[in-house]
Amino acid sequence: MINKDVIIVGSGPAGLGVAALLGQTDIDYLVLEKKDIGCSFSEWPEDMELITPSFPSNAFGQIDLNSICEATSPAFAFNKEHLTGKDYAKYLTAVATHFELKVQTNTTVKKVEKKDDGWLVKTSQGRYFAKYLIWAAGEFQNPQINDIEGSEHCVHSSLIKYPKKLEGDHYIIVGGYESGVQLAFDLVKNGKKVTIINPDEIDDMETSDPSRVLSPYTYPKYIRIKQSPLYNEIIGEVVSVSKEEQAYHIQLENDAVVTTEEAPICATGFSLVKDPIEEFVTLREDGTPELEEETDEFLGQKNIYLTGPSVRHENHIFCFIYKFRQRFGVIAEDILKKEKFAEEDISCMVGNWKVNGMYLSDLSSCGDECVC
Ligand SMILES: Cc1cc2nc3c(=O)[nH]c(=O)nc-3n(C[C@H](O)[C@H](O)[C@H](O)COP(=O)(O)OP(=O)(O)OC[C@H]3O[C@@H](n4cnc5c(N)ncnc54)[C@H](O)[C@@H]3O)c2cc1C
Repeated sequence: MINKDVIIVGSGPAGLGVAALLGQTDIDYLVLEKKDIGCSFSEWPEDMELITPSFPSNAFGQIDLNSICEATSPAFAFNKEHLTGKDYAKYLTAVATHFELKVQTNTTVKKVEKKDDGWLVKTSQGRYFAKYLIWAAGEFQNPQINDIEGSEHCVHSSLIKYPKKLEGDHYIIVGGYESGVQLAFDLVKNGKKVTIINPDEIDDMETSDPSRVLSPYTYPKYIRIKQSPLYNEIIGEVVSVSKEEQAYHIQLENDAVVTTEEAPICATGFSLVKDPIEEFVTLREDGTPELEEETDEFLGQKNIYLTGPSVRHENHIFCFIYKFRQRFGVIAEDILKKEKFAEEDISCMVGNWKVNGMYLSDLSSCGDECVC
């Protein structure tokens, strides 16, 4: 069995971002990765770009929105604002190489067991033991189609890697948030008819928080397809889908039925990959884990942390990189304190992480709305 101070599960932006902070200390950590570094991003549909723009603004104290550690900028690396998934996976690999992050690929974590003094991690490559476990397994590999009876007749939007190659004439997309609108845009551009079914008005911009409403990247695309004769939308909630010979019947909660020849596409989101640690996770009403606000440890647990897009505190949703990276430092600080690092060393590192957008402990300003 291999012993480490810290095991991090997953080498996406969340896992590597925390690893980069721990790499500034002599904490002995290891990142265990099921496939390759950044593989969720390499598996994005072709042409799909990050909606959050990159810009090399680091020198003026505004770190690139998609950076996961100091002194790096995806915009600088690729000389573009909106990286594709494949570009971003290359950025993550470059970070891991440059900072010599300790990552072991092709190692799937199958089960985590709690022991008196730490965590036993059972993997496809053997057993590991660590005092601290950081869960960074992401969401992309767990597409969700919730509460739709007959969901087996649907296809999740993340499985459509090449929208250009779809051959039907008319597609129904369930869900009108980022990926639904993005896919509708690509299909309309290729001359397909598209109907989006969404529970609420898609352009109801009641907040400036892009975790709740369309981002400024996607909104103009939505306005463009709305003007197309190929596009229409239905406000309603899908309750079931049935298949009869060549037709799919989509039933809404108001009993209306929409019929289509192509399998309905569900752009209904993702949820945390958590099977190996299920027993340590308590869920909130919205299905995301309950966390300790001070440390991002799973509620009621010690020394097992969550990082990544499933982090929530009250109404604050940390689903973008520029949001969840601000909690990397909170986890690292908690571990350094427990390991009895000198207070002045911790405070010096935390000060640097704050400047670089990797540390936010006071969440009271997160709900601020833009006034104009
Ligand atoms: C289509 C799409 C577009 C998005 N666009 C943006 C955007 O523009 N900007 C933005 O900020 N965010 C965006 N997001 C949010 C996105 O989820 C996060 O930015 C990012 O992928 C989350 O990083 P992560 O490291 O938590 O997860 P991931 O990148 O998914 O990494 C998790 C890693 O854990 C590994 N893993 C999983 N299970 C195990 C296991 N059992 N054992 C070992 N390893 C395991 C996986 O192989 C993977 O490499 C988008 C999400 C999607 C789905």
